[in-house]
Amino acid sequence: MAQKEVVIIGGGISGLSMAFYCSQAGMKTTLIEKDKTVGGSFASHQYSSNGDNFWLEMGAHTCYSSYQNLLGIVETCGIADTIIPREKVPFSLLKNGEIKSIMAGLDLFELIRSVPNLFFLKKENQTVQSYYSKIVGEKNYRNTVSHFFNAVPSQLTDEFPADMIFKSRPKRKDVLKNYTFKGGLQSVAHTIAALKGIEVHTGSAAETVITSGGKYLIRTENGQEFSSDVLVLGLPSASSAKLLQNANQAVAYHLTKLKYADVDSVGVVVRKGSVSLKPLAAIISPNDIFYSMVSRDTVKDDNFRGFAFHFRPGIDDNTKFKRITEVLGVSMPKIEHTFTKMNVVPSLRQGHREWVKKADDLLGGARNMFLTGNYFGGMAIEDCVSRSREEFDRLVGMR
Ligand SMILES: Cc1cc2nc3c(=O)[nH]c(=O)nc-3n(C[C@H](O)[C@H](O)[C@H](O)COP(=O)(O)OP(=O)(O)OC[C@H]3O[C@@H](n4cnc5c(N)ncnc54)[C@H](O)[C@@H]3O)c2cc1C
Repeated sequence: MAQKEVVIIGGGISGLSMAFYCSQAGMKTTLIEKDKTVGGSFASHQYSSNGDNFWLEMGAHTCYSSYQNLLGIVETCGIADTIIPREKVPFSLLKNGEIKSIMAGLDLFELIRSVPNLFFLKKENQTVQSYYSKIVGEKNYRNTVSHFFNAVPSQLTDEFPADMIFKSRPKRKDVLKNYTFKGGLQSVAHTIAALKGIEVHTGSAAETVITSGGKYLIRTENGQEFSSDVLVLGLPSASSAKLLQNANQAVAYHLTKLKYADVDSVGVVVRKGSVSLKPLAAIISPNDIFYSMVSRDTVKDDNFRGFAFHFRPGIDDNTKFKRITEVLGVSMPKIEHTFTKMNVVPSLRQGHREWVKKADDLLGGARNMFLTGNYFGGMAIEDCVSRSREEFDRLVGMR
């Protein structure tokens, strides 16, 4: 059995950022990822045809100047020069078969009447619905704005805590307001995974974790076994709960209390010129079978255009592709390539901060066990990296 110092399970940005911090501190770090490649929801899918390369984001797509911990990693890795701006193309609304601006979906009179509430209403203890229906007006919220919020975590967000969906954080003035990377977000994931001091095992899920002799014993589906002093889980909450059933029942049970949603994402690549849709960043289509369609038009390509549709779970392929071809106005043979990906996102509810506090109390009593993920401070990339940083500081503090 391989003896390890730190084993991290889950190779999304949460696990990768934790691996970054541990390896920078000289800890020998092993990362286990079930997919063939690292990145999770922070992964761009690649397509090559006759030497032309193209990437498409199937999950996260935008980083901001307020992502200071992420930027710290990017700078330490020496890839800050790969940060590129996103083209200024519009977020659009699809209503009655027509593409319109988001503003066109709003009743301006109701908006003007309601927006002064922004100056005195507090987000704390409010749900997205209760807070934003006062800021934009109830009708605007119901008909347009709620669908915009639903598109962010690809699920109904009425019950989300209002202060956890769009968080304001201090911004870096020397960095683009919003940006991506030359090779897509995946290039950051791959750079971290290639750092010296991180050993990466992909292609097989961690299946069991048990404790023995003060160590964690981890077994993967393909029969690999690792023994580690320190265990870090960077997985969706339900996957962490399942893995911890034997190693820590109290933490496992607490994790089962969280709700989450599956997002069924389908990406399509077409030759440039075969879609007449004007360049756009994303489409939100109220009450549709998809929450959003995010395009690659934000980074121009000479040969291709790409579109990622984030569907509600449980829809069959025929229905999904029928809708994709309708929205894009193309026939199936024009679609040159497709990708699929299941993403898992948390369904945050009021009282979540109390849940986090209880989780941290339980972890305080667990030996050398750390949890990171998108279900602590929020689901943005920076929330994941911040959580990893806090857990890393706790790990260092225990040594
Ligand atoms: C459609 C979509 C769009 C988004 N857009 C943005 C955006 O523009 N900006 C932004 O800031 N955030 C965005 N987010 C949120 C952000 O991308 C995610 O919250 C974040 O990437 C989650 O990272 P994670 O590492 O916590 O989880 P994940 O990315 O889900 O990573 C968990 C990893 O664990 C692996 N795994 C699971 N079980 C096992 C196992 N048993 N053994 C080994 N490995 C396992 C999975 O394969 C996965 O790679 C978006 C999310 C989605 C879904």
